[in-house]
Amino acid sequence: MPQIRFTALQEAQRRMAPEVELPYTRVSEIFGEYTFNYRSMKEYMTPEAYRSVSDAVKKGTKIDRGIADQVATGMKAWAINKGATHYTHWFQPLTGATAEKHDSFFEPTGDGQAIEKFSGGMLVQQEPDASSFPNGGIRNTFEARGYTAWDPTSPAFIMGRTLCIPTVFVSYTGEALDNKTPLLRALQSIDQAATDVCQYFDRNVRKVTATLGWEQEYFLVDMALFHARPDLKLTGRTLLGHAPAKGQQLDDHYFGSIPERARQFMRELEMESYRLGIPVKTRHNEVAPSQFELAPVFEEANISVDHNSLIMDLMDKVARRHHFKVLLHEKPYKGVNGSGKHNNWSLATDTGVNLLAPGKTPKSNLQFLTFFINAIMAVHNHADLLRASIASASNDHRLGANEAPPAIISVFIGSQLTATLDALEQLEKGKLSPEQKTDLKLNVVGKIPEILLDNTDRNRTSPFAFTGNKFELRAVGSLANCAQPMTILNTIMAQQLREFKAAVDAHIAEGMKKDDAIFNVLRDYIKQSQNIRFEGDGYSDEWAAEAEKRGLSNVRTTPHALDFYVTDSAVKLFVENEVMNEVEVHARHEIMLEEYKMKIQIESRVLGDIAGNHVVPTAINYQNKLIQNVRGLKEVLAPEVFQKVAKDQLHMIESISGYISTIIAEKDAMIEERKRCNAIEDTREQAIAYCEKVIPYFDKIRYACDKLELLVDDELWPLPKYRELIFI
Ligand code: ADP
Ligand code: MG
Repeated sequence: MPQIRFTALQEAQRRMAPEVELPYTRVSEIFGEYTFNYRSMKEYMTPEAYRSVSDAVKKGTKIDRGIADQVATGMKAWAINKGATHYTHWFQPLTGATAEKHDSFFEPTGDGQAIEKFSGGMLVQQEPDASSFPNGGIRNTFEARGYTAWDPTSPAFIMGRTLCIPTVFVSYTGEALDNKTPLLRALQSIDQAATDVCQYFDRNVRKVTATLGWEQEYFLVDMALFHARPDLKLTGRTLLGHAPAKGQQLDDHYFGSIPERARQFMRELEMESYRLGIPVKTRHNEVAPSQFELAPVFEEANISVDHNSLIMDLMDKVARRHHFKVLLHEKPYKGVNGSGKHNNWSLATDTGVNLLAPGKTPKSNLQFLTFFINAIMAVHNHADLLRASIASASNDHRLGANEAPPAIISVFIGSQLTATLDALEQLEKGKLSPEQKTDLKLNVVGKIPEILLDNTDRNRTSPFAFTGNKFELRAVGSLANCAQPMTILNTIMAQQLREFKAAVDAHIAEGMKKDDAIFNVLRDYIKQSQNIRFEGDGYSDEWAAEAEKRGLSNVRTTPHALDFYVTDSAVKLFVENEVMNEVEVHARHEIMLEEYKMKIQIESRVLGDIAGNHVVPTAINYQNKLIQNVRGLKEVLAPEVFQKVAKDQLHMIESISGYISTIIAEKDAMIEERKRCNAIEDTREQAIAYCEKVIPYFDKIRYACDKLELLVDDELWPLPKYRELIFI
């Protein structure tokens, strides 16, 4: 009797939804109470320290050491007041998770007494034991140590009883060992490049920030059932399991009533998010049963990325209190819709203008078109790099399957803007006549409506869609750290804007008027970037064929997609924009390949174990029951009757034997294949071998296991089934 499944089922079924008490009536009462925000800073810091931090955030100025001591004193007083006993530097190593090392404020003074201590030095820099974080060879080649350094642009916060200080994580030689450092550099690059271009339109613009609004999809599963599934526990997804009789065919889940237990979880999660200053806004059920989405109001990209990392941690913590496990994996269940994390992205000026929102006047619309067309051009020129930025073993399950954006990068802009670009494309080269200019202003640029109607009817199959006042990068995985795609997107945009400015300035130097020059360059870009634009169904086979004709890449697997990180042009791009140097790029490539390989290796081992230790013995057990029964029938029945009634059971016994043999044979072959792969020295070759040689066994083994799940007596089956995982 497979105790664990049935105990888990009982436990899960018996659970009641706890009523979450909210200690406030209005969100504003608690919003940000656990963050060291401007309000707390004003209260706990000297005016001098306050000004210094606020300048660092707004203008990127440095905070000097003396001031750091004052900031630390204020931060400590605030944190202790809120009940914090420890502090930690909080960072995002390349493992994808977040890391922290807690130290106590408490320090003995040597006379039998103690004080609470936290100095500027402790705030500004720390040396975590970095040896266990991936570094792609950086620390081996250079210096053995890495350190974390305070990022004052992202507010410190309290989790539990710990003051968490957002930091970057770099090696002693300055190479980035985390996700945040390149992001901050990319954000600086886009700030400079976009501010320069803004000068054509408005000389008051001093700073441009990238904005990000992510939409986090996830699944919830009961904790007891989760623990009864070793594959979910160890790999984040089910490696086997037959599709339930009732799936999402009915589409009755989407926006359906949120089950009470999930609703209580969300209420508590929202409360904790508000306390941490994360402006979560929407909650609803997703397409699949037990799938949900959480989205905040957009924020400055660095803060938004931190908030996403933080909320992924927070979800897990809050879920435990509700006996749920949060599944962030892109594809926890085969045949059930997967999870993504749309990244809504735009650029905003310090004068309050969204550069990707159409304006009221032709002038503001020319600015909009400039940024809009440059974004299309950036994706056109660097589509492959954008593809690489969303590559991971788990996201491979989504990209390329007919439910998420395809692995082909394209841009959707809607029919209204397509018409605008078509009209602009007709412009003749060179100076514009006064009539042409008037016509443009009145009939093209002036006609762009402030609110783009057809963008409400969006193309959900596009990986990069314009949605009225922002682009939405839809191909990001639910498990991903948004820093990677945001680093790439902002870097390619920065590069593109620099090239644009150089081209416009060259025309101006030749004597062209500014507006003429801008129109001329934009017209060229529209022509050059035609190929990347696609308005049709991104899931269709026709599109795959059409994209191939257009010369667009369609790279379906991670190890190959990652190649785009290290092409000469990509390295040049990173170096020129001061986002990463050559060593950092190659190190990252190496780390991502290594991570890919490990993920597949673990899945392969876990699948082999479950198939061998759970499925095969269960099948044999049931087969023995059948054999006993057949023997009994033979004893009691006349031979001709026996032949007739035992036929089906004998057939089942044979089928079970067949599947058992398949599992054992394929499992052994897979192990041999893994051995061959492990002998490969080159990381890239090895990752490719795992992808092409090991993964194909997964489906073969799974197929046999899933058939057995259907054949074997339900009472004997040890693993919670899909219908139980998804519907309870
Ligand atoms: P969907 O229909 O794809 O679910 P929603 O309208 O729910 O989209 O979500 C829109 C998302 O876009 C929100 O997360 C919001 O914060 C974000 N967003 C809106 N404006 C901007 C902007 N200017 N920059 C970045 N993100 C934005
Ligand atoms: Mg969306």
